[in-house]
Amino acid sequence: MSAAGSSSAPVPHNALPPPSGSSARTSRIASHSHIKGLGLSGEGLASNDNAGFIGQTNAREACGVVVDLIKSRKFSGRALLLAGAPGTGKTALALAISHELGVKVPFCPIVGSEVYSTEVKKTEVLSETFRRAIGLRIKETKEVYEGEVTELTPTEAENPLSGYGKTVSHVIVGLKTVKGTKQLRLDPSIYESIMKEKIVVGDVVYIEANTGAVKRVGRSDAYASSYDLESETYVPLPKGDVHKRKQLVQDVTLGDLDTANARPQGGQDIMSVMGSLVRSGRTEVTEKLRREVDRVVKGYVDQGVAEVVPGVVFIDEVHMLDIECFTYLNALLESPMAPTVILATNRGRSLVRGTDDIVSAHGVPVDLLDRCLIVKTETYSREQVAKVVQVRANVEGLKLGSNVLDRLASEGEKASLRYALQLLTPASILAGLAGRTQIELEDIGELNELFLDAKTSARAVNTTDGGFNG
Ligand code: ATP
Repeated sequence: MSAAGSSSAPVPHNALPPPSGSSARTSRIASHSHIKGLGLSGEGLASNDNAGFIGQTNAREACGVVVDLIKSRKFSGRALLLAGAPGTGKTALALAISHELGVKVPFCPIVGSEVYSTEVKKTEVLSETFRRAIGLRIKETKEVYEGEVTELTPTEAENPLSGYGKTVSHVIVGLKTVKGTKQLRLDPSIYESIMKEKIVVGDVVYIEANTGAVKRVGRSDAYASSYDLESETYVPLPKGDVHKRKQLVQDVTLGDLDTANARPQGGQDIMSVMGSLVRSGRTEVTEKLRREVDRVVKGYVDQGVAEVVPGVVFIDEVHMLDIECFTYLNALLESPMAPTVILATNRGRSLVRGTDDIVSAHGVPVDLLDRCLIVKTETYSREQVAKVVQVRANVEGLKLGSNVLDRLASEGEKASLRYALQLLTPASILAGLAGRTQIELEDIGELNELFLDAKTSARAVNTTDGGFNG
């Protein structure tokens, strides 16, 4: 197959940015990948160790009640406040709640201090976070060609416009299903998609007839032996005809639609249309644009093309918000399309930021506290720290030598669970440098010489010489 030709026809591209879930957000929740849910029984009871969750049984059961309230739509206008020491699983609980609410439910974590920026208004940051936490499942029936690629032959022709060079005039694509093989003569725009997606013979694909977008579904078993088995997904051959109508589902968020509509692009398929609901040359997401997006989305929902999937906004260190943000948060909670709001704090009574004299529990004003169900998280025992560390080591594929788990558990008990977990990766680097695949006690010892945990560091700086002069 020649890769020399390039198509003159532009490939209609999706007008939307990649579905929500920025890399920063993904990495922020990566350390919770072992958490699969709250791990409750049918009666709503938490066993000690389930769905990746160790202990914290009271908090998990309380969160289970909140999940029931959300599902039965009795939680609107309210919020959940998780209160407890750092590293006691508040973020993990919030994430578990979003898992319990269903797959592909958006989870948008933010730290209170993130609202302060010189470029964006505080309330704007909150508003954007809320929009990213409202998912939309868009269902569209499309004409597609589906099958296993048996042939890919771009046909080159002289480029009539430039007078020199070649261009792809059409592509012959062989597609096989269990019913037989068909040869299709397709538009050159498909060739660009094929190159971009690195499609090769043996891939099972579907090609959208209108847009020329090609999607790899996996590889067929027939070609399995000649390819790297580990990285590929194998799918059976499609059963029906090569040409069919298929219901495709795409998940986006209101935040995605706002951004896409602030910079509309072309395209005919519904996703592109959703990305240019509002005809304007704007590049900024304004309140007016949001209202217009909402109006058109409502139309799609009424027609049954789109379904709203309310997600979860998680505001960690909520005491960092100021009175202006709290007032705005109250208003956001009242909006008809509000996501579930989970707040977290490790503060007791403190001053509400932005005021001189309002002191309240957790630094949260009373009117918002009134709307909250408050759940307390407990600190972990040594045994529980050991279990969590073991779970994370398994997830990260790290081997622990003898007594290492015990040592990490005592570090966790002394400092915090988070500190014990944080030692894992650097310890594995030290082990690697020493030519080992297994973390040994000496790696942890070396780390303790190199780093301080938060409590030790605080003790050191409290001494008169800062503890740094030997
Ligand atoms: P902070 O207040 O500092 O934000 P946090 O209370 O939100 O801390 P997490 O970030 O949820 O704490 O927990 C720290 C790490 O420990 C995460 O990797 C989390 O998944 C894990 N973890 C915490 N509690 C549990 C638990 N009960 N079972 C399993 N893993 C846990």
